[in-house]
Amino acid sequence: MANKVIPYGRQNITQEDIQTVIDTLQGDYLTQGPKIKEFEDKFAEYIGAKYAVAVANGTAALHLAALALEVKPGQKVITTPITFAASANCIQYCGGEVVFGDITPDTYLLEIDSVRRLLESSPKGTYAGIVPVDFAGRAVNLEEFRKLANEYGLWIIEDACHAPGGYFVDSNGNEQWCGNGQFADLAVFSFHPVKHIASGEGGMITTNDDKLYDALLKLRTHGIVKSDALYTNSVEFAGGENGQYPGWYMEMQTLGYNYRLTDFQAALGITQLGRAPQGMVKRREIAANYTNAFEGMSFVKGMSGNIEGHAYHLFVLEVEDRLGLYNFLRTQNIFAQIHYIPCHLMPYYREKGWKEGDNPASENYYKHCISLPMYPTLSEEEQQFVIQTIKGYYGA
Ligand SMILES: *Cc1c(COP(=O)(O)O)cnc(C)c1O
Repeated sequence: MANKVIPYGRQNITQEDIQTVIDTLQGDYLTQGPKIKEFEDKFAEYIGAKYAVAVANGTAALHLAALALEVKPGQKVITTPITFAASANCIQYCGGEVVFGDITPDTYLLEIDSVRRLLESSPKGTYAGIVPVDFAGRAVNLEEFRKLANEYGLWIIEDACHAPGGYFVDSNGNEQWCGNGQFADLAVFSFHPVKHIASGEGGMITTNDDKLYDALLKLRTHGIVKSDALYTNSVEFAGGENGQYPGWYMEMQTLGYNYRLTDFQAALGITQLGRAPQGMVKRREIAANYTNAFEGMSFVKGMSGNIEGHAYHLFVLEVEDRLGLYNFLRTQNIFAQIHYIPCHLMPYYREKGWKEGDNPASENYYKHCISLPMYPTLSEEEQQFVIQTIKGYYGA
């Protein structure tokens, strides 16, 4: 048992996945073909959003989201330090300035009061938006963030990379699925192998907003449009006649990128998405097992727990002697991981003036957190091995 490596997360590739990629490779399109729209439509339906735009990866999704919302130099945007750096970096890409709020110690999510304090301490117009993160798969209460954002005229990008299939229950008792566009302007997802749906590299942006949707499609492909109704140059210039643009014509109207996904990645995404509901059931079962095993243990200072609507990309335990546990688990071939080193204390952000003590709850969380193995194919036996190894380390 101890010889087989148990990582904190891993993909599950089935025969169905392999076959669909082969079929796509043997078809007419490697990229810009029909699998993209099919993946987008199915993903939007799963999440409950009107539109979905497939892109090259989650970071590209964040970058395009920030571009579509027209983040400009001089604008400030708030996010959490307990996230992958890309949630913050997308603002910097556009010349904006990221400001880090703190987390709520028991949910590990961006604390709305810390955001309110930042907003209140600057003149209105200083901040342009908020990027809340459904960290570990726990859904941010976006209904509350929307109210606050409306007071200050802010947009919201929901970083839902950890949470396709997660939800929170709103004040009317309705399940609000992560990325469904009810409260956030845009939401982003990643299809990196450790995430719920794996396509190698890949990402998705969801929205209910027609204008943002059109802007995203344009930005994804160099800022190029191909539609008579949208052209600004004249028919004469284009080389057409009788009011008709010629067949070859297209226009580059804004500065975009090539952030497209390939068709074989989209095909893989589609079959992976088909199994996402099953995967969610398994993740929630594993979380329940961990919660039962660790509840009340004296070495446990906190954990992700058994929370309704949690999508469990990660299951976090907060422990004493985290380094000792981490190293011991590795000797047993259990490769737990730490999520995350607080983003505001990365050297790049320290250089911009961030320092220790700026976000005490996030910094304290980092001292104790460890992410346990969490993926749908983690067997009952492996779960027990993880649990017993951890308890054994603490003599519990
Ligand atoms: C994975 C991840 C990203 C970036 O996704 P990539 O596909 O790796 O570029 C962004 N934000 C969060 C919270 C993530 O976990």
